[in-house]
Amino acid sequence: MMDKTREIAIGNIKLGGDNPVLVQTMWDKAVEKVDSELISELNRLQVYGNRLIRFAAPTLESVPLLGEIAGRITMPVVADIHFDYKIALACMDQGLPKIRINPGNIGASWKVEEVVKKAADTGTVIRIGANGGSLPKSLKHMDNRAEALVLAAEEQLNFLESLGFENVIVSLKSSDIEENYEANSLFASRHDYPLHLGITEAGPLIPSIVKSSIGLSRLLEKGIGSTIRISISDSPLKEVIAGNEILSVLGLNSQARVNLISCPKCGRSSFDTHSFTEEIQDYLYSVDKDISVAVMGCMVNGPGEASHADIGISGVGNSIAIFKKGEIIRRETACTAKEAFIEEIEQL
Ligand code: SF4
Repeated sequence: MMDKTREIAIGNIKLGGDNPVLVQTMWDKAVEKVDSELISELNRLQVYGNRLIRFAAPTLESVPLLGEIAGRITMPVVADIHFDYKIALACMDQGLPKIRINPGNIGASWKVEEVVKKAADTGTVIRIGANGGSLPKSLKHMDNRAEALVLAAEEQLNFLESLGFENVIVSLKSSDIEENYEANSLFASRHDYPLHLGITEAGPLIPSIVKSSIGLSRLLEKGIGSTIRISISDSPLKEVIAGNEILSVLGLNSQARVNLISCPKCGRSSFDTHSFTEEIQDYLYSVDKDISVAVMGCMVNGPGEASHADIGISGVGNSIAIFKKGEIIRRETACTAKEAFIEEIEQL
């Protein structure tokens, strides 16, 4: 097990040290206005277990909108900044607790210095890091690409440390899971800064989840990684669900969560597990209980196959059965099933 990293505070949360690994995501659209629809979507991410939310800050005009969001949600808002150091300064004026910058594309070193000085004055955390696809020219042709990633991050880190700034989180990302593993392991053996883990450009839902699960679990099991982001070419909500599932399977999720079991369905299927799961998903992810909930496709095998589940549901046509540990405890119609199921889960 790797030694603990230092602890870093980001607004109202703490990361690294003895704190649990946190799931984060990045908002996938440009923010043009802050309305109740946006706020409720962000709150929904939090209900699903997201702890930090990052937004691109492409222009100075976008910054007050991020400030407004930060004032209306309880998750810390992180700004992702490229090229323009003035955007970074403006984000800190808005009180955002963390910025992600690439010192290499900010330009002259005095500009990076300005950003770092302001971060020190305001207690802002800076995330720096290296990405396999955008290594600096001097390191691009190294044979050992994992080491090149670490050297690229260390170059940025050395500059920040030379200014006395250590309120830093580091990310080393590659789309190659072996390279990603080697780079993060090497960095963790040399430094005690918290690592933000992720497999970059991991692709659509299924490839991304496969790569991220295999790639990140090897690191997390060694105690490497303080926060994870599962990059998926899909919605932030799916990233959050995937991140939390990975942590739960590894026994690293600090929150009590429902373990959702559902059968794959077969020719015997008489209950639409997919639509029922979809319908009840928002509720299930908000339940703060360590329980197994089964949604099974048929009454022939469903209750038996899910006899280890704390509670389950299945049915035939309009006759729906709710069972506990495989024993039927209640029969409902299609119209009343959801409400009755929730009622039973509440009583567990
Ligand atoms: S529970 Fe029923 S529908 Fe689901 S896989 Fe088993 S036999 Fe098929």
